[in-house]
Amino acid sequence: MAGSAIKRKLESSGHTNLIYRSHAELDLTNQEEVTAFFEKERPEYVFLAAAKVGGILANSTYPAEFIYQNLMIEANVIHAAYKNGVKKLLFLGSSCIYPKLAPQPLKEEYLLTGELEETNEAYAIAKIAGIRLCKHYNQQYGTNFISVMPTNLYGPNDNFDLQTSHVMPALMRKFHEAKIKNEHQVIVWGTGKPRREFLHVDDMADACIYLMENWTYNDIEEFVNIGVGKDLTICELAKLMADIVGYKGTILFDTTKPDGTPQKRLDVSKLHGLGWDARISLRDGIVQTYEWYLENVQTK
Ligand code: GDP
Repeated sequence: MAGSAIKRKLESSGHTNLIYRSHAELDLTNQEEVTAFFEKERPEYVFLAAAKVGGILANSTYPAEFIYQNLMIEANVIHAAYKNGVKKLLFLGSSCIYPKLAPQPLKEEYLLTGELEETNEAYAIAKIAGIRLCKHYNQQYGTNFISVMPTNLYGPNDNFDLQTSHVMPALMRKFHEAKIKNEHQVIVWGTGKPRREFLHVDDMADACIYLMENWTYNDIEEFVNIGVGKDLTICELAKLMADIVGYKGTILFDTTKPDGTPQKRLDVSKLHGLGWDARISLRDGIVQTYEWYLENVQTK
């Protein structure tokens, strides 16, 4: 989802010299394949958006896969970028790198100041390793590798599988299917009380390209949050989704499912200071994503 949004935005702004590979064409966890790719293509600018990602259930069920695959992708790509003289690399992390009980909103300086949240610790450790790989390669080799920490993303090309997806696509699908099947109940996981912030993936792509074009590692200093700085409860999100989809039944909460971290609202003042602000409102973004879902995903 993140990589294809960056590609769409680069194409629509007139770039014709793009090199990319799908998951099936290039296995980024394989060092030999990554080395051969960089030696052949010699990219100048790299957006490292590839990652194994998933929602709360997938993260807590397959922690070994999340830590192994993400560490391998980052180590292979960042090292190959250095070896092949990449001018600039942008690494995408995640807001789950912050300690579970860090003060809100989350400032960049809170990294590694406390224990991580259990449900996504494996993924968070891998993403923290990616940030530090960039930092230490810059320190030792003088590279210009920057990192960004986007908040929860949503938009076209999201994963709508109910077992492995994040909350936004899961709720879209659940409410849509309940509406068309005339069901009167939708089950939302957890208590509905955790707060989450959501950023449309097109806004995230815009921010990444803006940072790639305008700022260096020395300006950014380690990494910068990308978000909107506003959050809402999962219960409020469920009501908003029901309204947009047109579902009129009941919403039930399954408290046997985990809540995850209570809140992870990003402090986006550093990003604002660098001259970028999100444009797509939550409602507009969900409406647009629902239109995409109806055209591309829904089960008829
Ligand atoms: P997180 O932000 O890493 O915790 O990942 P998720 O997007 O998977 O979950 C966010 C919150 O939404 C958690 O409190 C979940 O329990 C809650 N949630 C409610 N219903 C669902 C659902 O159907 N799927 C998912 N993935 N999360 C849900």
